[in-house]
This record gives sequence, C-alpha cells and structure tokens, in this order.
Amino acid sequence: NQTEAGWNFDNSYAELPQSFFKKQMPSPVRSPELVILNGSLADSLGLDAKILQTESGVEVFAGNEPPEGAEPLAQAYAGHQFGHFTMLGDGRAILLGEQITHSGERFDIQLKGPGRTPYSRGGDGRAGLGPMLREYIISEAMHALGIPTTRSLAVVTTGESIIRETAQAGAILTRVAASHLRVGTFEYASRFGTEDDVRALADYAIDRHYPEAVKAENRYLALLQEVIKRQASLVAKWQLSGFIHGVMNTDNMTISGETIDYGPCAFMDTFDPATVFSSIDRQGRYAYGNQPPIAGWNLARFAETLLPLLNEEEKKSLQLAQDAISEFPKLYHADWLKGMRAKLGLFNEEEQDKALIEELLGMMHKQEADYTNTFRALTFADKQADSELFQSQEFAQWQGRWQERLDGQRETKADAHQLMRNSNQAVIPRNHRVEEALSAAVDQGDFTVLKNLLRVLSNPYAHSPEQEKYCAPAPPSERPYRTFC
Ligand code: AMP
Ligand code: MG
Ligand code: MG
Repeated sequence: NQTEAGWNFDNSYAELPQSFFKKQMPSPVRSPELVILNGSLADSLGLDAKILQTESGVEVFAGNEPPEGAEPLAQAYAGHQFGHFTMLGDGRAILLGEQITHSGERFDIQLKGPGRTPYSRGGDGRAGLGPMLREYIISEAMHALGIPTTRSLAVVTTGESIIRETAQAGAILTRVAASHLRVGTFEYASRFGTEDDVRALADYAIDRHYPEAVKAENRYLALLQEVIKRQASLVAKWQLSGFIHGVMNTDNMTISGETIDYGPCAFMDTFDPATVFSSIDRQGRYAYGNQPPIAGWNLARFAETLLPLLNEEEKKSLQLAQDAISEFPKLYHADWLKGMRAKLGLFNEEEQDKALIEELLGMMHKQEADYTNTFRALTFADKQADSELFQSQEFAQWQGRWQERLDGQRETKADAHQLMRNSNQAVIPRNHRVEEALSAAVDQGDFTVLKNLLRVLSNPYAHSPEQEKYCAPAPPSERPYRTFC
C-alpha cells in the first residue's frame, strides 16, 4: 500500500560519516488522526493524496510505520543561539528519508514531533497541535508569496497529550525541504569533526544544492558565494513582505536558501524596523530591521567553517572568506532595491529611487502605517481613504515625485499597475487571523476557519473580493502580539 501511495525513498544523508546522525525510529503514538493534508504538495511529490488519507497513509505521518525504504534518523548539528555556540541536533524531529519525485527531484521528508532522539536533552521530542498548525499556515503562505521555504505536507494529532504550561493535544507535522542542511550542520562538523568531515559535508551540499560549483576553479569558495547569494535573495524577500523570522540562530539558517523553523515568526503589521514579536527576544536581536545584518553575521559563521577548504594557506583562506562575506550587504541591497522598485511600479533604475523609497518608509514609520496595506493602497488608489499617511502634506509631495518618476519611464500606466499588483500582496497571514483559525481548530475542533484562511492565503496576489475581510489590521485590543517558540 505504501508503494501505491507513491513513496519512493532514498537516504543519501545516511551515507555521510556516522557522526552526522543517529539512527532513530519515531516513537509510535496511540491513535493518530489526520487533521490536514496538502493535496497539491502531495501531487507534486508524486504521492497519491487519496491513499495518504487512508489508515496506512496516516500511520506514516504518525511515525507508526515509516514507508518502505526509509532509514529514519536524527541529524546532528550545532549552532549559535542568540550569539552563543551550543550543541543541538534534531531533538524533536526525525528525517524519514528523501522522496525522489517522478522528475527526479529530491526532498527531505521529516516528522516534527515524533518523540525523543539522542539529541532531545531534557525535552519530550513532542509538539503541540497549535504550533504545528501555525507552521503549516505560515510556511504555506510563504510559499504562495513566492518566498523559498520548507513546506508542510500534513498534520496528524497523536491522541496523546503533551505537557507544556498546560496539557495540549499532541501533533506531528510532516515537513518537506530541499534539505535540512544548516549553517549549524557545518558548525557541528567544524567544531567536533575532522577536516575530512567538513569536506564530506561540503561536497554533499554542493551535490545536492549547487552542482554547478564543481565546475568552478575553487568549488568550496563557489559554495560559499552561492549560499551568500541565495541568503541575500531570501532575506530581501522577507524584508519586502514584512516577514519576521524571530529566531535567526545559525541552526535555523539553511544551506539551500529556504526559510526554515517556523516558531516565533510573524508578519509585521505597523511599519517599524524595531518590530519584535518573539517573547524570548528581549534585546531585539532578531527585530525586523536587524534581519539583514544578522544574516550576514550567520554567513560569517558559515564561512569560518569552510576556511580549511578554501586555501592551503591560512591567510589566503581568510582573505577569500572575507571578500565573499563583504559581498553580502551589496547583494542584499541590490535584491531589496529591485523588489522595492517593483512594489512602486518602477521598471528601470534611477539614482534617486533609493531616496524615494526611504522617504516613503520614513513616513510610514512616523504615521504608524500598516506595511502591507500601504503598498496595497498605492496599487489601488481607492483604498487610501482612511489612512492618516495619505492625508498628510508630506505624502502629497512625495506622491507628486513618484508620479513624475512613473510618467518618465517608457512603460505605460497599465504596465506599472500590473507590476504593482504582482509585487504587492493583498493578504498576509495576519496575527489575529492566524490566532482565530488556531483557536477554532485547537479549542473547538473546527477546521473550517483554518481552511478558509489557507485558501485565501494560497493566492495572495489575486486581489479578489473574498480577500477583502482578511486585509484589515488587528484591532488594538489584540496588540502587542507575542509569539512563543
Ligand atoms: P528551535 O528553537 O526550534 O530551533 O530548537 C532548538 C533546539 O531545541 C533543537 O535542537 C530542537 O530539536 C530542540 N527542541 C525543541 N523542542 C524540543 C522538544 N519538545 N523536545 C526535544 N527537543 C526539543
Ligand atoms: Mg531550529
Ligand atoms: Mg523551532
């Protein structure tokens, strides 16, 4: 039945040196029930959604019966958490293996919340229904926004309670990723392994994510440069969409360039670079405005792990690493500026664009304007009615200059409008909407609110009438919003 479901596993990670993982079966759960399945993702993986919904399908998602060919394991990794180096590893996740799709693509299939592993330390290895549904919502919203991310295939409840502050329904999320290689995986190899271990890992990462790097004169330098490029592009997309990751520790930064680890993340409502939602981020280390420099800091930790591979001479290695890292702010800025131009309907590049954008953001900050809705209102002028920003004298002047800039480009007004529609989303997973969906699902067992939200979020650039009611910011009573790991 499991081959009928379409599972087609390979286990390339398990061929890395032994120290990179511990074989670990999921701990069976009493009475699993499927609460949500991502049909279109199942299709794209070559899986049969109908069979996945049957009892034998659900046993896979519950960890009770891994698919044929799976070699379940917990991955070893380390990482800098809030700046401090720590040994970590999959404490509540198990990699079942890699699904090979019909077109030959390879995806990690990981269970999150499948029970204890050798890396669990004091934890129970389990997860709650609320947080797993939250990851499902936000990761799928990110995907629909066009932001590289791990995906969510399914959530099952386990029929068992987990103990946090109170008892909660236990759940397991099936996460799909290009891989789960992290900056922290390299830090682990570098700190606790040999140079050969780092090389084996780097070769593996190249093979899996940057195969063209083998053609470079220095393939490890090419790996470093490509990871830097992808992360610059990723973080630019976060900034452009108002996404705040919340816990950008180096173990939560992928080598593939996908967003990973949806814990305390949330989308910014009112524009303010100092915005922090995570209850544990007391210093604001991972505030919205800090995300680009923090990504650069994390990439410097990555570069350090590669030093022995970059050149035989230590001094040359350092120079190569430093040169690569110093590219990050420039690459990020170029990606961000390109995205911002598109949000304003600008096709070509002009010197004054940066100032034009920064002035707009400055006004938004001062007027406490909603980030998403401001760009939506610039796209559809009739949505400008009730915002103080649009009534200000300052804005009128800015708008005059923006209009002049639009009029001066070769493309038509209609072209510019279309570019803005495609670059400014109507809906984001607004915090109060996410909470409303989670509360209906977890407290009342009603999944309709969640499914409606997912449907609207699956097409964020549609600007459809159905989306209208999801566009309103949270009422002041629901702020400040706080998230937890
Ligand atoms: P995170 O903050 O999600 O990046 O997780 C940091 C570390 O804590 C990782 O090594 C996780 O595997 C581990 N961890 C988080 N929750 C649990 C849990 N309930 N049981 C065991 N380990 C956990
Ligand atoms: Mg993590
Ligand atoms: Mg987490």
